Amino acid sequence: MSELLFENALRGSRAYALMRSDIERGLSHAYMVISADDELTDSFFTLCGMTLFCQNGDACGECAECRKVLHSSHADIIHVNVERSDIKRDDVMELVGSVAVRALGKRKIYFIHRADLMNAVSQNKLLKTLEEPPENVTLFLGVANERAMLATVRSRTRAIYLDSFDESVIYDELIRLGKDEKAAAVASACSDGMPGRALLIADSPEYVSYYNGAVALLEGLNRSSDVADMSARVCAVKDIDEFLNVLSIIIRDMIIFKHSPEKTMSGQLGGGLEALSAKYGERALAAILFEINNVRKKLKLNVNLQASIDSLLFSMLEVKHKWQ
Ligand SMILES: [Zn+2]
Repeated sequence: MSELLFENALRGSRAYALMRSDIERGLSHAYMVISADDELTDSFFTLCGMTLFCQNGDACGECAECRKVLHSSHADIIHVNVERSDIKRDDVMELVGSVAVRALGKRKIYFIHRADLMNAVSQNKLLKTLEEPPENVTLFLGVANERAMLATVRSRTRAIYLDSFDESVIYDELIRLGKDEKAAAVASACSDGMPGRALLIADSPEYVSYYNGAVALLEGLNRSSDVADMSARVCAVKDIDEFLNVLSIIIRDMIIFKHSPEKTMSGQLGGGLEALSAKYGERALAAILFEINNVRKKLKLNVNLQASIDSLLFSMLEVKHKWQ
């Protein structure tokens, strides 16, 4: 199956508008589709495939061609590295050899998933094909890490960036996928604008508990006598690094909230962010972000967990009162 997730978000994206205009004017030989969100890239591939082959011209999802694209059974679409694991030299040689085989229909498309996993030797093997593939062949390279691509490959492909989405767009997509409102709100707030990451978060029960725990910490930390109890709770979480990550995201959202409330998920989170943001000055929040980063570094160096968290909570209290 080639899933088409986040369809509304993708249809409204700048990347898709670029792609559509290229389809109208004539496709390039090769594209590099760049996003840190693999799920999103895969769905973008699916949408492009449907757009290219749809009998109704608009990636309808209903016609025979669209259905073949969705079932990964389209004869003129070749997927390479669907499992996004590794691309070996042999895979590239096979691809290069198959490019010359004529398309059954009017064009042939290659979707190379996570092309940035090719090493330099493999990328070099692909160069000539990228430069002058047979007529009506187009290669799409899905790339999470652009810096892993050789300059020679980059210069022979047209770069299409999948931008990150607003939290509200991601929230709507998660609701459409049947996630409950609380999970969708937490996940979209913590997704960094990446719907694939949001989906993972929405499916992880720990995340909502981390989110609630982090909010409780920011709400309940008022005086030194609160530290011991709060610290014990933080130290008990299963994945401290992920908890600190969630805490940073909430604090970053609080900073954003102070400037442009409409850009955060506070509505879906029941206005919690508003009350919370009022308790902390902006400089305090910035200082807390800095402290959280320090603690994460310390924990990587195996500094004692409780000592690190105690020190974080005391610093948080200090800056909270200093810059109220
Ligand atoms: Zn169709």
